[in-house]
Amino acid sequence: MGCVASPAQGSTSRAPVAAAAAPRAPHASESATPEGELRVGGCAIDLRYDDGEPPVDPRLIESWVAASAETVAAYTGDRFPVPTLRVTVIAGGRRGVGFGLHQDGRRIKIWVGTHATSETFAEDWVLIHEMFHAAFPDLAREHKWMQEGLSTYLEPVARAQQGALTPEVVWSKWVRMMDHGRPRLGDRGLDRTHTWGRTYWGGALFWLMADLEIRKRTGNRKSLQDAVVGILEAGGNGRADWTTARVVAEGDEATNTRALADLYAAMAEAPGDVDLETLWDELGVVVAADGSVGFDDTAPLADIRRSMTAPRES
Ligand SMILES: [Zn+2]
Repeated sequence: MGCVASPAQGSTSRAPVAAAAAPRAPHASESATPEGELRVGGCAIDLRYDDGEPPVDPRLIESWVAASAETVAAYTGDRFPVPTLRVTVIAGGRRGVGFGLHQDGRRIKIWVGTHATSETFAEDWVLIHEMFHAAFPDLAREHKWMQEGLSTYLEPVARAQQGALTPEVVWSKWVRMMDHGRPRLGDRGLDRTHTWGRTYWGGALFWLMADLEIRKRTGNRKSLQDAVVGILEAGGNGRADWTTARVVAEGDEATNTRALADLYAAMAEAPGDVDLETLWDELGVVVAADGSVGFDDTAPLADIRRSMTAPRES
């Protein structure tokens, strides 16, 4: 389950492993230069293998890394959030894509099993989650929920924009998981309650509400995407150390609202709860007994719900 399953690891808390990568073998991928560098959205991605040996056909890995970076770049203004990135693939076990670690907007390490297939890579969410950490500034430890929440929220949104996930898949995941992010008894707000549920899904719920509030307050003309791009344009990528006050100010300036300021006061500095059942009703997300979802386009916020996970017009 990648880093979502192990929040205690944090996304930036480990020291980098000494570079053990050997030069990569030549190959025929058209997306790679002879030096073995991938270029996506203005970013030079230096793809390495930890033991010098890719766990599976390197062409599969290259197209997965490139497609993941394209998904992120498409969300962040058709530009990858940092100019260079080293992605180190570590052979680990047999199964598909495992744990991922992001560090400082400069390095991602990700474990890939020897039985990974093209389907494994097409379904992977871990690398996109890690790459989204490069699209948001580093915050003090007590605000990690904001970083983890953003990656957790944006990963399916960006994949839906690319047409890689259907709205049904995205909303059914949120219906299943967002409840983990709600405050429990004794909660003191996202800045002071550092459980797994509040860090990942409380953070994701904050950003879901931010996306929704920005759209409501701007007649659906602006969204969280504008806030994220505005923060990036102000220099707030994974290489920068920011305060949450600056995130809120830059994000709100980009949408000309106070959506982030209001939500921060309600959910980070206090245990602001979200009535999810009412929220799904307003959005027109209809949950069946088996957990699958359908949509009611007559619901009051149906237009906003549709645009949140709509494929991008090309
Ligand atoms: Zn993460």
